[in-house]
Amino acid sequence: MDFNDTPEEAAFRAEARTWLEANAELRGPDDDAPIMGENLSDENVAAAQAWQKKKADAGWACITWPKEYGGRGATPMENVIWNEEQARFKTPGDIFSIGIGMCGPTVMAHGTPEQQARWIPKLLSGEEVWCQLFSEPSAGSDLAGLRTTAVKDGDEWVVNGQKIWTSGAQICEWGILVVRTDPTVVKHAGLSYFVVNMKSPGIEIRPITQINKAQGFNEVFFTDVRIPDDQRLSEVGNGWSVALTTLMNERQSIGSGMGVGSLEDLVEFAEGIELDGKPAIEDTAVRERIADYVTKARGLKNTSLRTLTALSKGLPPGPEASMGKLVGAVLQQEAASFAMDLAGASGALLDDEVTPDGAAWQERYLSLPGLRIAGGTDEILRNIIAERVMGLPSDARADKGVAFKDIPTGPPQ
Ligand SMILES: Cc1cc2nc3c(=O)[nH]c(=O)nc-3n(C[C@H](O)[C@H](O)[C@H](O)COP(=O)(O)OP(=O)(O)OC[C@H]3O[C@@H](n4cnc5c(N)ncnc54)[C@H](O)[C@@H]3O)c2cc1C
Repeated sequence: MDFNDTPEEAAFRAEARTWLEANAELRGPDDDAPIMGENLSDENVAAAQAWQKKKADAGWACITWPKEYGGRGATPMENVIWNEEQARFKTPGDIFSIGIGMCGPTVMAHGTPEQQARWIPKLLSGEEVWCQLFSEPSAGSDLAGLRTTAVKDGDEWVVNGQKIWTSGAQICEWGILVVRTDPTVVKHAGLSYFVVNMKSPGIEIRPITQINKAQGFNEVFFTDVRIPDDQRLSEVGNGWSVALTTLMNERQSIGSGMGVGSLEDLVEFAEGIELDGKPAIEDTAVRERIADYVTKARGLKNTSLRTLTALSKGLPPGPEASMGKLVGAVLQQEAASFAMDLAGASGALLDDEVTPDGAAWQERYLSLPGLRIAGGTDEILRNIIAERVMGLPSDARADKGVAFKDIPTGPPQ
């Protein structure tokens, strides 16, 4: 593993930087990095779409996508370089990570050429925003336990049920949807996968207000929603294997997205705030604590570079992405909590008028429990590490081999 850019990577970095410098403003110390999915006003959505279109026109959108789909065929390492460079600039909040990171690659892997031609170009250019309708009130970690049904009626499917935690549903044109089409077989075998138009009659979207008052995700109710059969991805009953493609892309995009950026912000914050009449950064205990976070973050970064090195050699991604998310989310949460402590009494306030950091650390702290749940909870990631890294026996599965309709759901009525 080499930590320096290769000559090709250095050339790529220079090209990316030149384009960014010509097309965006550098991010100043007071320009907070946008929080994904939480700032969804009409202006923010329009700004994000305009930025995506600009990148698409110049060949900088979806850079890891194959060239035949409008991408650049960039390597995972080039993607890291692009993200590092883009993070230095003031850019709108990212509303496309689910569409670009998960939906697009799933349509490429399982869609027909017609389906790809219909959806991929507008996804790439940011014209159409996508969401992921997987989780249900009783099916999150155990996604294959979902209960929303689809029943065939002529050339259409009629969908009834409820999804939950659907990030961005309120601004989306399209959603990827997993439903149960056969309850008489084991739970993984009776699922099918659709692309649904979010403006279809019978879809009701109810926002969920989060602890920081943001409304990033929603409950989505389906009442007799009709989906044309030509919006089905892969065969009826093969939904689980299509969903695995989506989930693998999700884990990879979340795991590789953990950076040390927030720690640079923490150093700046500790330089700017006073403790006992001096900048907090001059206090030994503060420096030790930050050094401890930075050491862990560097370890994480090196672990994720190992994944990227493996990927660039054509090897499959290992369990490092699970480790990256598990350790990285806790680390970011601890660092945000420490920054709030440093701010003293105002650290407890969520008021951008009176807090020294414009409430940015509080916002971050309150959004981080979500990161420890989304895309695999801490416990599920520990199970993966226990089974795949440590070789421990797998989780007990009481419903193995049982038809979905016969799985007990509670005490007898
Ligand atoms: C910010 C955010 C955004 C999200 N966006 C989306 C989205 O856009 N689309 C979407 O479909 N979903 C989304 N989700 C949902 C997310 O995928 C689920 O919340 C997650 O999979 C956990 O499922 P659950 O909430 O049903 O919890 P459960 O699976 O019910 O888990 C409850 C608790 O039990 C533990 N647990 C469960 N099973 C085991 C086990 N086998 N061993 C040990 N412990 C276990 C869990 O770790 C957890 O602590 C989002 C969630 C968040 C927080």
